[in-house]
Amino acid sequence: VKALDLKIDELASPEYAPVVNRAEKRIEEAIIYALVSERLQKDEIEILSFPIAVMMTAAAKDPFLKRRYALAEAKRAYNLLKLENKEKIMEIAKVFNWKIKPSERQKAPTETATYDFALGFVDFLRNTANFREKKWKLVNRLVHKGHVYLTKDEAARLIAEEIRVHIEKKLDVKGLALPENIVKRVSVLKQLFSRQRGKIRLEEMPKEVVIAAFPPCIKELYNAILSGRHSSHVGRFALTSFLLNIGMTVDNVVDLFRTLSDFNERMTRYQVEHIAGGKGSRTKYIPPKCETLRTHGVCPGMDEICRKIRHPLSYYRRKLRILKTKAPVASGA
Ligand code: SF4
Repeated sequence: VKALDLKIDELASPEYAPVVNRAEKRIEEAIIYALVSERLQKDEIEILSFPIAVMMTAAAKDPFLKRRYALAEAKRAYNLLKLENKEKIMEIAKVFNWKIKPSERQKAPTETATYDFALGFVDFLRNTANFREKKWKLVNRLVHKGHVYLTKDEAARLIAEEIRVHIEKKLDVKGLALPENIVKRVSVLKQLFSRQRGKIRLEEMPKEVVIAAFPPCIKELYNAILSGRHSSHVGRFALTSFLLNIGMTVDNVVDLFRTLSDFNERMTRYQVEHIAGGKGSRTKYIPPKCETLRTHGVCPGMDEICRKIRHPLSYYRRKLRILKTKAPVASGA
């Protein structure tokens, strides 16, 4: 790409239309499917379209879109890496300065997996920090002399995470002056993204979160935030602590507040992390009980289940049980 000595202005030329089309498609696929397709028919289009898609995503100036795009590219990378041989995986890992070597312990008598690599534990920890599955916890891994043993598929997954972080950093570029035709495409993509937002939120919710089991107070607060309406301080605290307690991540909750006109990422993240117990006191807060919410005007009126409980979280658990006995619960439904 460097050798082409391409200037941003030249992207307006029809000669580059196929590349810009593919760049636009990459972002569109990320928005709609959360995955960029593999399409490797024409290397020159595929390779050049990536930095252009990065510029276009950066120009959209939407942190939520940036995260989604980086993740979609990382998933694409993972799907391609899985098909590569061990030697190539090692070479790519070294681009990120990983301390990686082929596994000398193919299989211990009590282990079911055959390990392909041994990775320095610092690289392992850095790339698993955002993973929630138990298998990624260091205590559940085979570790020997500072190295964590991995299968080829696991190594591909960790490289994909490294790629995600790498792309997110690239998306932080500021002050881009793009040609008019590209700016127009960026604005079309932004419109598409805002139309898809509600759906994306549901998709990104952890599987265990069931909106249909929310109590009336939380449903009202949740819908208010989604439509960009402000709630009282107590209302916001009740909603945040409720969502964190039923399994939503800090990122999920921060994203929820993005629609507010005065959204401030740093401040919101700090407050959400505090309520999640990740900052300051290390106490994970629970929502106020019904009585307190009624006093502060957050209770919109009780339904039948409300009459049997005294806390919004009890409502949620009870309603979940009812839904489960009626039909298999669809996630996020
Ligand atoms: S009674 Fe409690 S759970 Fe029901 S809506 Fe009011 S505050 Fe929420």
